[in-house]
Amino acid sequence: MKTVVMKFGGTSVGSAEAIEQAASLVRKARPDWQHIVVVVSAMRGVTDALIRGAVTASRGDAQTYQSLVADLRTRHARVVAELLSKSASQSALLKVIEAYLDTFAAFCQSVHVLGEVTPRAMDAISSLGEQINARIVAAQLCELGIYAQAVDASELVVTDRHFQEAAPLMDLTRERVESKLKPMLRDRIVPVVTGFVGATEDGVTTTLGRGGSDYSAAILGAALDADEVWTWTDVDGVLTADPRIVPNARIIPELSYSEIGELAYFGAKVLHPKAIRPVVERGIPLWVKNTFNPGCAGTRIISEPRTTPGTIKAVTAIQGLSMVTVEGRGMMGVPGIAARTFSAVASQGANVLMISQASSEQSICFVIPTAGVSPVITALENEMALELARRDIDRVWSMDDVVIVSAVGAGMRGTPGVAARLFSTLAAEAINVIAIAQGSSENSISLVVAADQAAQAVRQIHSEVINYEQD
Ligand code: ADP
Ligand code: ASP
Ligand code: MG
Repeated sequence: MKTVVMKFGGTSVGSAEAIEQAASLVRKARPDWQHIVVVVSAMRGVTDALIRGAVTASRGDAQTYQSLVADLRTRHARVVAELLSKSASQSALLKVIEAYLDTFAAFCQSVHVLGEVTPRAMDAISSLGEQINARIVAAQLCELGIYAQAVDASELVVTDRHFQEAAPLMDLTRERVESKLKPMLRDRIVPVVTGFVGATEDGVTTTLGRGGSDYSAAILGAALDADEVWTWTDVDGVLTADPRIVPNARIIPELSYSEIGELAYFGAKVLHPKAIRPVVERGIPLWVKNTFNPGCAGTRIISEPRTTPGTIKAVTAIQGLSMVTVEGRGMMGVPGIAARTFSAVASQGANVLMISQASSEQSICFVIPTAGVSPVITALENEMALELARRDIDRVWSMDDVVIVSAVGAGMRGTPGVAARLFSTLAAEAINVIAIAQGSSENSISLVVAADQAAQAVRQIHSEVINYEQD
């Protein structure tokens, strides 16, 4: 039986028109696929609104969440009115939506009374947008004569208790998929599953991290042993750069799992970085397609695409970072300094995006999100107190407002001169490279540059290196 999991992102199901289009894409796929599982995000902006309601309520503001409830009610009601033809089905759906929005208001009220929002409460609140939208999309599919049913992923995707960034427990998830999803598919029902959401084994709602609906689709694809996973979004596929920085970015027809892994990790928002792992393990092809331009084939992600030696396929940037440096002439002789540095960093839960060590061993630098810098520096100063007192280490310091710009492409493997071309093109524009690291897979080279030069660096690499390669 041919099975496809199709995920629709926030813009792809963000208005009545978009939902109509998404539903028509599902209908078009019916003749080719016996089993279709749909995964949906909340409407664009809804998750942000839910989170804002919770945060403002926790800070003593009892007004904002109430006006957000009113806005969400109007927005969803308008969409339902535009989509559903019969007033009986409209009012049934509106009642369901109303109940979710009442839950949102009640949660915010409790958060307001308590004066804090725990990660667990945040998951209960931020998952409501997907729960609402799964009902709307299922109703629209039924309008088209497709037997569809909304399914809460909290019944399918079993996760650990790491609220707001939960990891799936695949064996348990597979069991649930077997017992709950497969029977629906056998009955030719199209399940419309909430993206982004999971639950612990005992049923407490969790979420998989922002942008996590891609991850949900990949998890379900793996659990179902699907033939393909498609993510429908609002651009033609994975592009050579972020189109908001480089308006003439072009579509990349094929990428390997490891290339997309690097791209997503280094900031290409088009796919959640964790969405790769479940599909890689089973070798399931992943497609990124444009809901609003379905005639374009999109990007196909597989294990071994064709590569042209020397080619860089894409350039990305991650903002909001700081570079922390531990430096001192006496570091050379101190054993285990790197291990101690990184265990101090790990103790603060900071996510290290890039590491670079000078060969003289006189400094170790690493890049982390700016929000985590001050606890990390304190932890490092405590860990290295003795070395600092002895002046083996001179100082631990951070440079804020930096961006990692990465050039990605398996074609650079074993091809000399790629890095040289990158640096000379940046030097020609007087862009200062603060630090460099090459991915061990040789699929990427990452550079740290000042935030105010980042967009220029991306455009320069895009026009001089990527265009140059493909001409
Ligand atoms: P969805 O809601 O469908 O998941 P997202 O907003 O999460 O959509 O991701 C799609 C967006 O990612 C695009 O609209 C685009 O602005 C941005 N983006 C950043 N880098 C890239 C890239 N290299 N290729 C394609 N899109 C990118
Ligand atoms: N709605 C969630 C978010 O905004 C998940 C997603 O869109 O993928 O983060
Ligand atoms: Mg997304």
